Amino acid sequence: MQKIKIAVIGGGAAGFMAAVTAKENNPNAHVTIFEKSNKVLSKVLISGGGRCNLTHNCKSISQLIKNYPRGGKELKKSFSQFSNSDTIEWFKKNNIRLKIESDNRMFPESNSSQTIIDLFIRKTEKLNIKICLSSKVDKIQHSKGKISLQVNNKNIKFDRLIISTGGYPKISGFKLFKELGYNISSPVPSLFTFNIPNDDMTKLMGVVVENTSAKVKGLKLKQNGPVLITHWGLSGPCILKLSSWGAKDLADLEYHFITQINWLSENEEFARAGINKQLTSKKNIYNSNPFALPKRLWHHILEKVKIDELQKWNVLNKKLRNRLINTLVNDEFTVNGKTTFKEEFVTCGGITLEQINMKTMESKIHKNIYFSGEVLNMDAVTGGFNFQAAWTTGYLCGKNASK
Ligand SMILES: Cc1cc2nc3c(=O)[nH]c(=O)nc-3n(C[C@H](O)[C@H](O)[C@H](O)COP(=O)(O)OP(=O)(O)OC[C@H]3O[C@@H](n4cnc5c(N)ncnc54)[C@H](O)[C@@H]3O)c2cc1C
Repeated sequence: MQKIKIAVIGGGAAGFMAAVTAKENNPNAHVTIFEKSNKVLSKVLISGGGRCNLTHNCKSISQLIKNYPRGGKELKKSFSQFSNSDTIEWFKKNNIRLKIESDNRMFPESNSSQTIIDLFIRKTEKLNIKICLSSKVDKIQHSKGKISLQVNNKNIKFDRLIISTGGYPKISGFKLFKELGYNISSPVPSLFTFNIPNDDMTKLMGVVVENTSAKVKGLKLKQNGPVLITHWGLSGPCILKLSSWGAKDLADLEYHFITQINWLSENEEFARAGINKQLTSKKNIYNSNPFALPKRLWHHILEKVKIDELQKWNVLNKKLRNRLINTLVNDEFTVNGKTTFKEEFVTCGGITLEQINMKTMESKIHKNIYFSGEVLNMDAVTGGFNFQAAWTTGYLCGKNASK
């Protein structure tokens, strides 16, 4: 085992996984983590509402990669080395019991992200990994496979470098890597909810509609799943997925667009058939909802299409019938801005992946420099997939950089 010096920039999920793996693979290596802030693993702490949704119970890699709007295809190579099932095994081996929720998200059984932080801190202490806090890396130099880092006005030399700095909201954040010659895909936020200011729908805050589909007018974007109505607009897994797949396009539209909600997630014929079945009924429309929609939403839609509270099914005219069907399957909302979801967001953009060997995570431009985590142009929908990418790429960096 070579006595090499390895630097890891960034004390987040990817950096810790990389550092621990490097030292476990090569006990002779000197591993140092440089973290610019005064604490480590801060995103892990607040993740998943303090519970840390650390991976997803996907049965295959082909299923897993479908959740990455950016990087899915490329990550296939990385996941074939270290997948979500390897992650689950890795935590088990380290005595962390995990649980699977009904939607296949996975959490520590303790329901506390602190369990994950404690594990990584314990491991770094045991493995004698040095952690330098308040240590921002300001410059990286690479010459003939050797690396020099400028940290707090000092130059320090290393044999290997693992870059795990996470994403930056602005392109200027990537200066360190641009100077080294890397191409960057401009960062924009992903995972956000839609603001529909001045729309009466917001009065229905708290209502969840389980099976909906949502589109963005003029774009080829469509997602299914639950929609949550909030006091500012539309949220829930369906909207978050739409924001993730459309992150770049919606940023180009400066978050002003029309979203089309299909409250039934079914086609017009289905809606028409459901309504037609009622047309002989003498029941009041407000009290008989054929689609099992939440009552408040059903009433709201009827008000929106101007169906009177005393209206009976058997005397509903064709014009109102068509308006009702259209609103059920294509309810349009003008979106004006976005809001983060429980402070959770990821960066869409970063170091573009064609510059990286995704099997080893080594740079194709600089020998002995490796990349992991959100600094790369890869990100996922919610559900534990973003941490999965951090664990996988961090693990591969550690394994390969320590050889
Ligand atoms: C509120 C919230 C909740 C989330 N919940 C989940 C969840 O439940 N499940 C999930 O899968 N994903 C979740 N995510 C996304 C997930 O947290 C990230 O994808 C993941 O943390 C990325 O890990 P990373 O190590 O690449 O980057 P980070 O965690 O961002 O770590 C990078 C570190 O590098 C440091 N750094 C940056 N530049 C320098 C420099 N020049 N020198 C030294 N240090 C530097 C930063 O200070 C930071 O500590 C959540 C995100 C947020 C914001």
